[in-house]
Amino acid sequence: MSDSMIIYNDDAYTKINELISAGIIVNHIITDPPYNISKNNNFSTMKKPRTGVDFGLWDRGKFDLFSWIPLYTKLLDKNGSIIIFCSYRFLSYIADVLEGEESNCEVKDILIWQKSNPMPRNINRRYVQDMEFAIWAVKKNSKWVFNKTVSKPYLRSLYTAPVVNGAEKVGHPTQKSLSVMKEIISIHTNENQLILDPFMGSGTTGVACKELNRKFIGIEKDNNYFEMAKRRLEV
Ligand code: SAM
Repeated sequence: MSDSMIIYNDDAYTKINELISAGIIVNHIITDPPYNISKNNNFSTMKKPRTGVDFGLWDRGKFDLFSWIPLYTKLLDKNGSIIIFCSYRFLSYIADVLEGEESNCEVKDILIWQKSNPMPRNINRRYVQDMEFAIWAVKKNSKWVFNKTVSKPYLRSLYTAPVVNGAEKVGHPTQKSLSVMKEIISIHTNENQLILDPFMGSGTTGVACKELNRKFIGIEKDNNYFEMAKRRLEV
C-alpha cells in the first residue's frame, strides 16, 4: 500500500464506521455500485438457451442501493462531489436520497457513457442498449470542481467509448471503460485530490486516479475482484 493508493478487501457497509471514526475526509466519491439488474434468465425450454443479463450473485437484487449514500456523504469535504453509476431504473430514487436531509447534496446533472460498439440483442424488437448513466451531485453550497475544456464552448455530458475488451479487460463482468473514467475524473476532480470508490470492483477508478495523479481509497468485498484491483494498482 502506498500513501496515495489505499485499498481494502472489505464490506463498504461495515468499513464506513471505521472511516468515520478515523476522521477520513475525501474530496470526491466516484463509484459504480451493483445495479441490481441481473436475472437468472437462461430459457431452458429453448433449443439454444438465450443468456440474459447476469453479472453474478452480487448483482441479483440483494444489494441495498440506497442506505450507503447518506453514510458515505458524511466523508465528503465541504466542496466535495459524488458521482454514482446506476441503472436508469433507479436514477430518480438515488437523486432523492442524495438530496435528502441526511446526504445534504444537490444533484447537478446526469452523465452518460455511450458505448460505440454495444452488444446487439433482440434487435428486431428492442432498441440497442448502448448507454450507461451516472448521477453527479455536489455538497450543498459547495464550490464544486468543473474543469471545463477551454477549447470547447460547452461540455456535453456524453462520454463515448467502446465497451471494455481486448488487453484492457481484466475479468470483471462489469468493468468500466478506463478512458471514460479518466475523462470524468479530469473534469470533476483536481490533481492531488483524494477520491473514494467504495465498490471498486477491478479498480478502474483507482487506475484512472493513478494515471492522473489523484489519491485513491478503494473498497471491494469480493476477494477475486479485490485481487484484480490490487494487481492493476500494484499496491
Ligand atoms: N467499476 C468497477 C470496475 O470497473 O471493475 C466495477 C464495479 S461493480 C459494478 C460493483 C462491485 O461492488 C462488485 O465488484 C461487487 O463485488 C462490489 N460490492 C458489492 N457489494 C459490496 C459491498 N457491500 N462492499 C464492497 N463492495 C461491494
